[in-house]
Amino acid sequence: MSSESVFRGPDTDEIQVMGDNFGRMTQGILQGIGHDKIFRNCSICRNWLDPTPTDPRQGCRLYQCVPPVKIIVCGCDKFVDHNDIPY
Ligand code: SF4
Repeated sequence: MSSESVFRGPDTDEIQVMGDNFGRMTQGILQGIGHDKIFRNCSICRNWLDPTPTDPRQGCRLYQCVPPVKIIVCGCDKFVDHNDIPY
């Protein structure tokens, strides 16, 4: 068997490009059907406050409360993208 016939899987850069393309495609589909708010929710909003060992508060820093479930899941008009990769 020659080395030319051996399957070569994608390298890291190609996987990254495929992942980026898949993300853009998925976001485009969700925007097209009006469900892109799933990516604009409280869990990734800069205004969300998680409890810490020294501060047990949790909720929306902007509104000073724990929002209703519908808002937590779908976000609100004041959503601010965290822009940080959490992992
Ligand atoms: S209620 Fe709005 S502003 Fe507050 S954390 Fe959720 S999305 Fe952000």
